[in-house]
Amino acid sequence: MRVAEVSIEAIHHNVRRISEVTSGGQIIVVVKACGYGHGAVIAAEAAMSGGATMIATADLEEALQLRDAGVTAPLLCWLHGPRVDFAPAISASIEVGVSRLSHLEALAAAAKELGTTATLQFKVDTGLSRNGAAKEEWETLFARGAELEREGLVRVRGIFSHLANAGEEADHAQGEVFDEAVRMLREAGSEPEMIHLAASAATFSRPKLHYNTVRVGLAAYGLSPFVEKTSAQLGLVPAMTLRSEIVALRGVPAGTGVSYGFNHVCEVATTLALVPIGYADGMPRALNGNGAWVTIAGEPRPIVGRIGMDQFIVDVGPLAGRVELGEPVVLFGDPERGYPAIEVWSRLMRTINYEILVGIGPRVIRQAA
Ligand code: PLP
Repeated sequence: MRVAEVSIEAIHHNVRRISEVTSGGQIIVVVKACGYGHGAVIAAEAAMSGGATMIATADLEEALQLRDAGVTAPLLCWLHGPRVDFAPAISASIEVGVSRLSHLEALAAAAKELGTTATLQFKVDTGLSRNGAAKEEWETLFARGAELEREGLVRVRGIFSHLANAGEEADHAQGEVFDEAVRMLREAGSEPEMIHLAASAATFSRPKLHYNTVRVGLAAYGLSPFVEKTSAQLGLVPAMTLRSEIVALRGVPAGTGVSYGFNHVCEVATTLALVPIGYADGMPRALNGNGAWVTIAGEPRPIVGRIGMDQFIVDVGPLAGRVELGEPVVLFGDPERGYPAIEVWSRLMRTINYEILVGIGPRVIRQAA
């Protein structure tokens, strides 16, 4: 049993919290990369029923999968290859983030072919140096957008950009560049309904950059984008509880080597529990021997020995006799409920909570709870 239990209530709470922080502005919830590991459909539906305005993905394929699964929410996607075909996006009423002229022309051509109007949001680069139209391209891009709007082939619904989260000064400098883009778009003749720059970090730290919409991923799932602040300190509730169970128990004498390479040797006689989740499921192999722990029967117990592809071992020590086969094991979840925080793993692995979340593998069943 490998389950990522996703609390719909927690996602509802988090969307409400984001709404409170942004004084009721529009909220786009990002469900790219399998809903940050939570399951894109579960995440999208929970976000919408919790009060989100729109759902976003990076790729068009991800957005189309949501439509195919019956998600009817407004959808936006923004990362497109050079030969993308926008016709399926238009047919499925998916809004397209447009970063360059060739995509704008391809979108308008597809709309003309289908005899309809495509909806787009311009994505501009304000300093991150990733996708998004470069400043030199804005005038031409916006002028052409306004022209195509007049022809009825496109509707320019929004404009957005992404922050580098490089500190207050850098973020506000990006904000000023973004203001200029918004001004130029209006001068070109388009009136954007959605204006968005802030993702999770700026939602909680830069109120001046909220505009009328925020575009959040991590915070909707209840996690903190800040190393120095916990979910609880931001008023968020982690939505995912990663669970498994004990499938074998074995009493061993002192001196017993555990798992590949015997990098753990039991100092005293103890009881070892086998848990069927491994690095194929997104549990970092290098976690062992680092102080990582799980919760069993309400107690913290250490992970011992090298983590395998499908399984790892816990020293249940004093819990022997109190736990049986099938006993639940929580790998991470809401620390307010006594579970290890996902950040225990990300800190040990010198990475960010985002990477751990999206690394949860396909064998793990996503279960709405
Ligand atoms: N907007 C864009 C363009 C992104 O790439 C991402 C995620 O990387 C987000 C918004 C959401 O970011 P966060 O999860 O930090 O809220």
